[in-house]
Amino acid sequence: PVHPLQNKTRGSAKRYEEAKQWMPGGVTANIKYFDPYPIFMESASGAYLYDVDGNDYIDYNLCYGALMLGHGNPQILEAVQKQFEQMGTPVLGTPHELELEMAKRLVELVPGVESVRFTNSGLEATMFALRLARAWSGKKKVAKFEGHYHGGYDQVLLNVRIRERKQGMPPYVCADSMGVSEEIRKQTVVLPFNDWATTEQILNQEVCSIGAVILEPVQAGFIPPDLDFLKNLREYTHHYGIPLIFDEVKTGFRVGLSGAQGRYGVTPDLTALGKVLGGGFPVGAVGGRREMMELASPLRSGDILSGERNQEGGSTLFHSGTYNGHPMILTAGLKTIQALEEKGAYQSVEDATMRLQKEMEMILKRNGFCGQAVGVGTIFNLVFSNKPVREAQDVLDSERTLRRKLDNFLLEKGIYIKPLNRFSLSSVHGPEAIAETLTRFEAGVKQLKKG
Ligand code: PMP
Repeated sequence: PVHPLQNKTRGSAKRYEEAKQWMPGGVTANIKYFDPYPIFMESASGAYLYDVDGNDYIDYNLCYGALMLGHGNPQILEAVQKQFEQMGTPVLGTPHELELEMAKRLVELVPGVESVRFTNSGLEATMFALRLARAWSGKKKVAKFEGHYHGGYDQVLLNVRIRERKQGMPPYVCADSMGVSEEIRKQTVVLPFNDWATTEQILNQEVCSIGAVILEPVQAGFIPPDLDFLKNLREYTHHYGIPLIFDEVKTGFRVGLSGAQGRYGVTPDLTALGKVLGGGFPVGAVGGRREMMELASPLRSGDILSGERNQEGGSTLFHSGTYNGHPMILTAGLKTIQALEEKGAYQSVEDATMRLQKEMEMILKRNGFCGQAVGVGTIFNLVFSNKPVREAQDVLDSERTLRRKLDNFLLEKGIYIKPLNRFSLSSVHGPEAIAETLTRFEAGVKQLKKG
């Protein structure tokens, strides 16, 4: 049978055939791939993406949630251009004032942040946070949660993919990639999200060797935490002196200016940020308790590589990066924060998200499907089940084949999402875009019903 997308995306099909010759699977990141081939986009504006065949799509992927202000925000573009002209170069490779300005903003806005380092991606941010935490605690093992993604490196590329497990059984640690070392698997403890009894039981067994606990406070950006679960985890880790890391790469500046920690009132020791903070450019940041962050200070015991101080031969916590604190990116980030600080900025996107969720649920119901929208703030996912969704296993148990089929029709009707993935909204998903989305959505659902 002809795939729903095939007739309108011939240009993408052609390019994909060629791309396969030059890049593994024809993509630069595995997440960009979907069957039968990914759509090649050419440009974007506001809430819309335009592909190489001239089709338009209302974008709900928004660069995996990074674009809180939509595509081509004029204030960001103008600020970056101006900064470039003033500075005369994209990057100085030295300290500069924008770093100071952004660091101060993060300390002001995010409760757990007292001191900051910048990185080039969310991945680097969680990696540095984990090293800091282990250095601080002096213990080796990392505890992470099933279904939580922190970037594609060995230490955390475990149990991100959800697998069948018997009810109540603790998750068995599994690598999500070839090439992840067995040693690292042994250094990792995997915990079940929103299940405090099992989490506590596993932590108790390993408490002497766990040097860091990391989690996405909102799982995969859409499954909300039980407040008691978060609080228990905070109390437990505090009691045993285990640094608690919130990976707020997705939630930071998405669920509000103070992140999930502000929204839920639970403050971690270390926070990883990224995505929205870069205003569309690659970025990451780690912030946290001053005494932990200070471990990375070259004033403390010497920076091995600079050699400025290391006379005592003291141990150093290494952190560096050619492009850390890139001025163009910080400019875009500062403009983004400024826009989000405007009164009602979050509320209007959250209201639009709520409306979209409710209407999508109603359309599904009218057409005989039982699907629910599960989300927090401005991100949600559509899960085909009527059971409450509290953790990764509940999504695994839903009718994912049906959802995947719907996604094909939605793409064909001009709603862009990564199949099976979340919907993210932005400040430019206004009433018109939402109304148009609902028309397209209903057309997609009707087609799904026809089979
Ligand atoms: N942590 C979380 C929660 C994320 O969602 C992501 C990206 N999807 C990362 C870390 C990694 O960020 P990056 O892709 O910028 O390396």
